[in-house]
Amino acid sequence: MTKVKVGGMTYTVLYKSDVNIDGVKRYDTCDRENMVIEIRDSMNKPLTDLTLIHEIVHAIDFEYCIDMTESQVEQMANGLYQVLVDNEFEEAP
Ligand SMILES: [Zn+2]
Repeated sequence: MTKVKVGGMTYTVLYKSDVNIDGVKRYDTCDRENMVIEIRDSMNKPLTDLTLIHEIVHAIDFEYCIDMTESQVEQMANGLYQVLVDNEFEEAP
């Protein structure tokens, strides 16, 4: 997935070897000002998919003004990932 629409906005998804915030290495970021989600490209597919879902939940939280905590984002992302995988949901190419 290279684009994801959330709340009328289109986020660009970039897979990069170096993802950081202020020099601190990260697995993922969601830059709301520039509508960019960055995912580290060295992770295996399940972790990459889970990480993308995590950042999409952050984007949903922001676009719909839900005001979730990091823990709530993590719990929702883990739950969504499990449901999608266990029900054979496949990402479009
Ligand atoms: Zn997060």
